[in-house]
Amino acid sequence: MPKASSTSAPRHVLVTGGAGFIGSHVVDALLGQGRAVTAIDNFDPFYDAGVKRQNLASAAGHPGFRLIEGDVRDAAALAALPDDIDAVVHLAALAGVRPSIARPVEYVDVNVRGTQVLLEWARVRRIPQFVFASSSSVYGVDPDVPWRESDVGLRPISPYAATKVSGELLGHSYSHLSGLRFIALRFFTVYGPRQRPDLAIHRFATLMRRGEPIPVYGDPAATRRDYTYIDDVVSGVVASVDYRASDYEVINLGNASPVSLRELLDALESALHVEGRIEPLPPQPGDVPQTWADVSKAGRLLGYSPSTPLAVGLERFARWLDTHEEASSGAIRQR
Ligand code: NAD
Repeated sequence: MPKASSTSAPRHVLVTGGAGFIGSHVVDALLGQGRAVTAIDNFDPFYDAGVKRQNLASAAGHPGFRLIEGDVRDAAALAALPDDIDAVVHLAALAGVRPSIARPVEYVDVNVRGTQVLLEWARVRRIPQFVFASSSSVYGVDPDVPWRESDVGLRPISPYAATKVSGELLGHSYSHLSGLRFIALRFFTVYGPRQRPDLAIHRFATLMRRGEPIPVYGDPAATRRDYTYIDDVVSGVVASVDYRASDYEVINLGNASPVSLRELLDALESALHVEGRIEPLPPQPGDVPQTWADVSKAGRLLGYSPSTPLAVGLERFARWLDTHEEASSGAIRQR
């Protein structure tokens, strides 16, 4: 099937999960480029809806912005979306590895069925461009680092990671059958202002400031992760909206510079000007011991070049936390 308007840059982008951490930054960036943006978000109660509304505070007053409070699994809600949408950035998901082990059926329903419903809507609407939030977790426990998109035989070790592999594969079938261009972006631990309160950096920072012990699962010297600053990730997402050179790609968006958990804690202490107290605990099921992105493909295809050193990104996160801590701490819903 020919693509509807695949040669011109998208002018009206649908951002699913637009009230979330990454989604709200993508919304701001797309509006800043002069595009119209519709966000759909169901304000899932995993963390406080008030935090998500605050994420959209600057977008809310923008004339090119519209927020739909709805669910990506709801075909009727999708049918009511504006006719002129010409690209999708699909970020809506149940995120987080550990809760997915406790709630696998819900994760599959939102992340796999939700993606399927949205792909079908995009096919019927003949939307030419679909950008999908995948995850570094798809690589599982792969000792051969840095991880490249050409690595085959993915072995995810959590339901969450498996849902992200599934989304990538559903997208491939749509790009093959329907002429939808599908770009799967594998994000590597994203951090910065508005970071989800359940994620390590945010959680550690809150505990450090309260003087409470920080639960550290596994050996902090041996656990290494590639932490990616939000502005770098957003630059890759926005470039993917305009990518035209092929119909299906899987692309790592990481920092290509992993640090140990010990180094992360030291850097966070410096940024916050406090000392943390570690409570050592055994490794958690589903957690991978290391992540490390090879970003050369992202550089070639998207001009992606992560430029925020960890110390700089943590400093910016700490300054944001100074003014937002009350709103976002304790915001995680206990299930
Ligand atoms: P987030 O939880 O802040 O944002 C997700 C948003 O999706 C939330 O606002 C939530 O309300 C919304 N949502 C959930 N279910 C929905 C549904 N059924 N219909 C409509 N909206 C729904 O998470 P985030 O950290 O911003 O992550 C965004 C995307 O990036 C997710 O797909 C996540 O899996 C992926 N990702 C994130 C990271 C990271 O480090 N933050 C790493 C890898 C992948």
